[in-house]
Amino acid sequence: MDKYEILKTYFGYDSFRDGQEELIDSLLRGRDVLGVMPTGAGKSLCYQVPALLMEGITLVISPLISLMKDQVRALNSAGIHAAYLNSSLTPGQYRKALDYARMGRYPIIYVAPERLTTEEFLDFARNAPISMISVDEAHCVSQWGQDFRPSYLKIARFIDKLPRRPVLGAFTATATREVQDDIVRMLELQSPRVLTAGFNRPNLYFSVQTPRDRYAVVKNYLQTHQEESGIIYCLTRKTVEEVCERLREDGFLATRYHAGLKDEERQRNQDDFIYDRSPVMVATNAFGMGIDKSNVRFVIHYQMPKNMESYYQEAGRAGRDGEPAECILLYGGQDVITNQFFIEHGQDNEELDAVSRALVQEQDRERLKKMTFYCFTNECLREYILRYFGEYGEGYCGNCLNCLTQFETVDVTEIARSLIDCVRSCGQRYGINVLIDTIHGARTAKIRQYRMNENPQYGAWSKEPAYRLRQILNYLLLKGYLQTTNDEYFLVKLTEKSRGGLAGEERLLMKLAREQEQLPKEKRSRKRKGKAAAGLSGVEFTEEAQRLFDKLRALRTEIAREEQVPPYIVFSDKTLVLMSVQRPKNKKEMLAVSGVGAFKYEKYGERFLKCLEKNG
Ligand code: ADP
Ligand code: MG
Repeated sequence: MDKYEILKTYFGYDSFRDGQEELIDSLLRGRDVLGVMPTGAGKSLCYQVPALLMEGITLVISPLISLMKDQVRALNSAGIHAAYLNSSLTPGQYRKALDYARMGRYPIIYVAPERLTTEEFLDFARNAPISMISVDEAHCVSQWGQDFRPSYLKIARFIDKLPRRPVLGAFTATATREVQDDIVRMLELQSPRVLTAGFNRPNLYFSVQTPRDRYAVVKNYLQTHQEESGIIYCLTRKTVEEVCERLREDGFLATRYHAGLKDEERQRNQDDFIYDRSPVMVATNAFGMGIDKSNVRFVIHYQMPKNMESYYQEAGRAGRDGEPAECILLYGGQDVITNQFFIEHGQDNEELDAVSRALVQEQDRERLKKMTFYCFTNECLREYILRYFGEYGEGYCGNCLNCLTQFETVDVTEIARSLIDCVRSCGQRYGINVLIDTIHGARTAKIRQYRMNENPQYGAWSKEPAYRLRQILNYLLLKGYLQTTNDEYFLVKLTEKSRGGLAGEERLLMKLAREQEQLPKEKRSRKRKGKAAAGLSGVEFTEEAQRLFDKLRALRTEIAREEQVPPYIVFSDKTLVLMSVQRPKNKKEMLAVSGVGAFKYEKYGERFLKCLEKNG
């Protein structure tokens, strides 16, 4: 078999994605590689395909048991013999797996980095024909990254001990230069072919909302997206528990995950999510790496995370299968304060000396600011993200809230003047809320207490809706006309640009959503979804197809229960979408559906054909 036949027979795909072929060819020629590709790009195939073409064994080093299990399950269900060696096996099982491995039963073996240095494993490895070593989640070797694993540092020494150096592949989704350099150095890659794929994920829809009632938004979303699986990220453990509890009371199948729970509960909840028993996971950022679930249809951030790196990584867990998925961020001013608190009182940097620590905090504040601006911008959200990571988008993606909102250009100069004047006349002593309340003319005790009702700007814009005033104030922050202090008070201050007031002729134009666009977000989102699905699968997803899809999905759940594997291991959402649109009638047509390989056809093909026939 050649690589194309392997791709079709085992994985059911017709063509390689961007970058995959180059990495595969390089490994097959014996040259090391470093593959930097975003989540869901298909890094696993880059070493699995050559592993099946090479003589001998491929070792895959992976940081987490759950990741290994998931990958081995997926390979087995595609008809490929693979095994994992980690602490989840009993000593008996471990020895047995090693025996099989010695007999040459597994072309691919997943191993935890801690195992590499054990006598038993070394003895096996020295005497086995190991032709390739693939290091998955290779950023774990870097102390710059957030997932540093000391045991990854032992990989290079392990390789030294082998009688012959196998070809090395390293794979990660982490973009930064420092981490990439670290990977090459620490793993001692030899003049590797480095391939960095673009970070754009066209199937992800991005939106930011600033709702008064976040819970109501989430509830509404879940009600209109029943049977879809997704993650809701919160900043604190307490919020996780509150949100999860309320969702359960409201009848949703939600589960939770954070570092404060016992191992046992964490494991159970994670499994419930992966197996679709609890389609909704409410979690802190402790939940994530190790989740290769491909049918996560939405990631909602209940609160704004601390920086764009975290945001894109977490949001990126949606839509691994390439089907449309939504990433929604719910922003509230309080989030900034919570994140600032973490920066000031974080435990992360305790081992640093005072100077380095101040430096790190400074950087963290800067990153928080950029994250906050993401929530304010009216430009294309994807463009904002890509630019943050040093790439250039096209300015208009057509698949984010801002691109789909009808904006009008409004001259906000006069309101901006009032705001700037208000900041100056109160001695730069107050935060955003007080300023908004002042020019809006609120009659609150706080305003009277601060005597802002005597400010010349008090009530100057009482007829303008408060959210508009807030948008304009945010815009002034975004454009550097105003700034906030980097302390816990978050006071609004003047800048170089505004200290002398706006120049007489200077006009400030701003894109603002048309009034009617503010409300029916949900409706638009539904409509858009159909379209996006059509765009990605290259076909119209009709109501008829949707009905069929639901039937196929039910069958998938049934099979998954019988075989005790997660549903997405049977077939991905994408494959089911294609089935329901292409409606294959026989074996040949079924094998032509992307994601249906020969082995899976033997196992499930008939049942899905029957289901299609019955409901077609
Ligand atoms: P990564 O490790 O880069 O995050 P995975 O290797 O888990 O991504 O792959 C993500 C999804 O993409 C999987 O469901 C995989 O089967 C699918 N995939 C990979 N390569 C292809 C391809 N060439 N064609 C279609 N689907 C693919
Ligand atoms: Mg992966």
